[in-house]
Amino acid sequence: MSKDRQPKSGETTDTSKPEGEFVFQAEIARLLHLMVHSVYSERDVFLRELISNAADACDKLRYKAITKSELLSDDPDLRITIRADKKAGTLSVSDNGIGMGRAELIDNLGTIARSGTKAFLDRMSKGGDVNLIGQFGVGFYSAFMAADRIEVLSRKAGSKSVFLWSSDASGFNVEPASKTLAKTLARGTIVTLHLKEDAKEYLETSDLERIVRAYSDHISFPINLVIEGENAEELRQLNAASAMWMRPKQDLDEERYREFYRHVSGLFDEPAITIHYRAEGRHEYTVLLFVPSMRPFDLFDPSRKGRIKLYVKRVFISDDADILPAYLRFVRGVIDSEDMPLNISREMLQNNPIVAAITRAVTSRVLSEIAKFADKEPDKFEQLWRSFGTVIKEGLYEDPERRDQIFEIARFHSSAGDGLRTLKQYAEDMRPNQTEIYYLVGDTLEQLRASPQLEGYRARGIEVLLLADPVDNFWVTTALGYDGKPFRSISQGEVDLSAIDSIEPAADDGEKDAASQAVLARIKDALNEAVEDVKASKRLVESPACLVAPHGGPDRGMDKVLELQSGMSGRLPILEVNLSHPLVKALDGKAASADASVFDDLAWLLLDEARILEGRQPADPAKFSARLNRLVLVGLA
Ligand code: ADP
Repeated sequence: MSKDRQPKSGETTDTSKPEGEFVFQAEIARLLHLMVHSVYSERDVFLRELISNAADACDKLRYKAITKSELLSDDPDLRITIRADKKAGTLSVSDNGIGMGRAELIDNLGTIARSGTKAFLDRMSKGGDVNLIGQFGVGFYSAFMAADRIEVLSRKAGSKSVFLWSSDASGFNVEPASKTLAKTLARGTIVTLHLKEDAKEYLETSDLERIVRAYSDHISFPINLVIEGENAEELRQLNAASAMWMRPKQDLDEERYREFYRHVSGLFDEPAITIHYRAEGRHEYTVLLFVPSMRPFDLFDPSRKGRIKLYVKRVFISDDADILPAYLRFVRGVIDSEDMPLNISREMLQNNPIVAAITRAVTSRVLSEIAKFADKEPDKFEQLWRSFGTVIKEGLYEDPERRDQIFEIARFHSSAGDGLRTLKQYAEDMRPNQTEIYYLVGDTLEQLRASPQLEGYRARGIEVLLLADPVDNFWVTTALGYDGKPFRSISQGEVDLSAIDSIEPAADDGEKDAASQAVLARIKDALNEAVEDVKASKRLVESPACLVAPHGGPDRGMDKVLELQSGMSGRLPILEVNLSHPLVKALDGKAASADASVFDDLAWLLLDEARILEGRQPADPAKFSARLNRLVLVGLA
């Protein structure tokens, strides 16, 4: 028995028998339960989903017919029909597109859960909106909000067989259609909904017409509405059925763009930026792209796939062509080329020079449109950056050619306040004699703000970028600088801030003092192999100690990433101590005393505290707590 066939009790296990009852895959069953038993105010979306599926099926057939024209020749006019039958209480959405065979009906409509199924369920359990269903790849099931029984009759293009899928949401059945039924369908799919008592409004002509119009204006196949009346059928076409992106901008309003965006992306937010233009010149193509305002659920999916739909002269070719670089994978929409060959196979897209030229031009255009938006709508842009900034920053090391363009739109947290800052602002506010752009990388903003390393910079009024996204570790070490100013980690190497005036009274670092030198040597002795060196700090003001990485090699942020990944840290760190801190001064006193263990405990405490402030564990947690306890007891004595 094939693994996708799970018989219900009572079914024979005769595998040659083509019909049978199936149980829904577990997550799909949960999803259906939700659809059937909850009451949603946005129930209309099921129509959008069914129309979208029908349009996709037409797109797929048109693509396949490029190489197999006989698939289309019997009935070349692709179309979608919506039929309301008041007497029978049914509403159907049909298409003469690609159709589904038996295995596809079983897989697509019941046994194979999409990666988005669970994500959608999770979202719904947190009070998510059913409108979101499209982006999760499970839109079909939303029809159970309005129907208590659904039948899907389908004939795959070029096939003699017609199959009937039917379900009341508790399980489903797939069987060959009767001869009479099979005759009613030359090609494609008819989805028939037996409407629930409380969903009969979907049979009312005016309601239905209004809803379908809203969902179909941008669909490039004709959508006909058929009302089966007592006497004659009424038939009317509800949309212009032209490719929306080919229409002149002045014919399109915000509402139309929004509907198209929702159709093409399955997302349900407002697009933050709409980019619609026609490129003419060496290559001719039309672009209609959207930057969403909210994160799609799969933004951080490891596949990092984009979803832009590529068309050639209005024929859908692929939504898998990665036309934009991965760091712009959140952009949605359509690119339609006039000069690519229609019979281009999906495999050939990767090395196609026209695709490469489109990629280059459209990538730059998208970035410049984002920059324009940032200038015009700074507040809205900040929202957008919060949604997609981490992803856009991937471009800083993946696309060095456009690094400067990305720097123009990038926003950063910094020690200068709570708001986001641009590099331009940073550069303008640099202190006299400051030549470098300082940054600190860590896990969270809170941890970064509490870093002792910042103290000396704060005292001199020097702004430090606080980089808390995992991606920051990577770009910041490869980027040469911004506007001629190099980036410099403040958790690595020596610093010389002496040329920059302090804005607070300078602490006396006592560095030269021979006794201080002895303390440093003594601390190093105590910490033995845990540090490369112990030095008097020029960057600390309030804290007793901090860790910095030696010059060359990874800084402390990157070192932590390596430690997490491989369990090994790179080079040993340097412990910088603040010689004017009372704790360090107390150490000074203990250095000469006979009780070496108190000195050692204090030295280790300095090291472990510095590790904790970096968001790490103490070097040895058990020893750390034993030492701390001993010191507390000494203090209490
Ligand atoms: P999505 O359309 O987002 O993939 P759905 O749950 O709406 O998710 O549909 C699941 C799958 O079922 C589709 O990907 C498609 O393969 C198939 N399907 C649905 N409706 C049709 C149709 N009218 N014609 C052909 N295939 C269809």
